[in-house]
Amino acid sequence: MFCAIAAGQIPATRVLESDRTLAFRDLNPQAPTHVLVIPKEHHADVAALAKAGAGLLDELLAQAHEVARAEGVSETGYRVVFNTGADAGQTVPHAHAHVLGGRALTWPPG
Ligand SMILES: [Zn+2]
Repeated sequence: MFCAIAAGQIPATRVLESDRTLAFRDLNPQAPTHVLVIPKEHHADVAALAKAGAGLLDELLAQAHEVARAEGVSETGYRVVFNTGADAGQTVPHAHAHVLGGRALTWPPG
């Protein structure tokens, strides 16, 4: 599904894009800012993404910060989350970072 979004075959509300990454709004936002950042290349989860190397994970995290800046939450605070596997609630098997902000976020998460 996220491969199809990266390819432009499924529409998404795009926030930022680079050659290798794409940021778009979550369809079911959990905070005023809730943006997903994905690598355009398919990797099942963040562990696979880290293993892939070539600076792709670095680029994804840099993009997550750029999203926070663009959304105006880089000063007030934001969270970057990679849910990995069933117990964490990873529902799409394509690595994606959630960028959450715009309200006080509880810790630990539920
Ligand atoms: Zn994919």
